[in-house]
Amino acid sequence: MSDEHSAQVQVTEIEVDREQAVTVVFDDGLGARFDLVQLRQMCPCAGCHGAREQGRAAFNGESITVIDAELHGNWAISIRWSDGHDTGMFAWTYLRALAEAAHHDIEPGTVPD
Ligand SMILES: [Zn+2]
Repeated sequence: MSDEHSAQVQVTEIEVDREQAVTVVFDDGLGARFDLVQLRQMCPCAGCHGAREQGRAAFNGESITVIDAELHGNWAISIRWSDGHDTGMFAWTYLRALAEAAHHDIEPGTVPD
């Protein structure tokens, strides 16, 4: 990954649906919706990152909900999950990288390039 402008990523809107998904809009207009199970599996904390590095899932359940979510300044959101996990800090740069990795799901022509 050579995307060095990522420190400038900002989020203008964020919506946490505690049962379904987290939706964010970045300051360049790109919107992304993250399914909660997917987001939990991609938790960026050291423990979950280590599990993925070893080829294990960070989360094995079929469903999860958000107990609480807290914004950290203008750079991240932390989420307390229904499985008790709360150490992940989802930085905008991280969410942006996830969103861009999912771009192939977006119809051609809607992605600014
Ligand atoms: Zn984690």
